[in-house]
Amino acid sequence: MLPMDADEPHDEQRAPDGTLWWELSFWPGTKREFGQEPKLGAWIWFHKEVGETFTMRELRTALGPEIVGESEHLNRRLRKLREFEWIIPSYKDDRTLPQDTYRLETKGRRLWLQDERKRSNGAPKFSQRTRRIVLDRDGSRCKVCGVGDGESYPGEPGSKAKLTIGHRVPQERLRSRGAADDIDNWRTECARCNETVRNELPDPEQYDEVAAEIKQLRKADLTLLLSWLRTGERSRSKLDRAYDRARKLSHSENEKLIGYVEKLLGHN
Ligand SMILES: [Zn+2]
Repeated sequence: MLPMDADEPHDEQRAPDGTLWWELSFWPGTKREFGQEPKLGAWIWFHKEVGETFTMRELRTALGPEIVGESEHLNRRLRKLREFEWIIPSYKDDRTLPQDTYRLETKGRRLWLQDERKRSNGAPKFSQRTRRIVLDRDGSRCKVCGVGDGESYPGEPGSKAKLTIGHRVPQERLRSRGAADDIDNWRTECARCNETVRNELPDPEQYDEVAAEIKQLRKADLTLLLSWLRTGERSRSKLDRAYDRARKLSHSENEKLIGYVEKLLGHN
């Protein structure tokens, strides 16, 4: 915590001119528009504790429709906060949350304060060079789901994957173990997996446990596995693709499909 004047506990909520941060129109002392993400961040920072949830309606009442328009609008702004290390899963990331509800998981940088904003603004976490090295090493495929850059997701024609760089083990966790966050911890992720992975707390796999499981495989499977490991991609058969698509059907369609496959097989 920063040192604070104990007599004025609410001072941090206000800009130098006394306006509440989330009601400010211009950056202090300038004619530059203050922007909507800093307002959103400041409001959440001072009204919600980590672990608490909030709804779109709540934000709209507090901040007005120009900041909290449609849900896509708001989701885009909340994603923007991620660049400042905020973690706010939505009902889309976490199916246990009701519609239009969000959970504050981590408060990131206070982007309404110029100093903290600048620390990350304009200085991406990964340089272009680092990005290229990691992408090349990983064969330009998401290490989580295997999708390639610009490819569509299985069973979702028209979708287009965008690759980014993520952390295998979250930085905070590494720090608490005294381990380094270096290239060995960075990996290629598609934007979709990047979002999900960030919200998952458990550690990714442990080498020893993976090795122990692999040791039990038959030789034919080991050979196949080796080829996947070498190419960095699991070759998917027609059968895999058919199953990928089939399991996304609705429950009733699934039942119907079972009957259809039984018929193809000559079962009754
Ligand atoms: Zn992915």
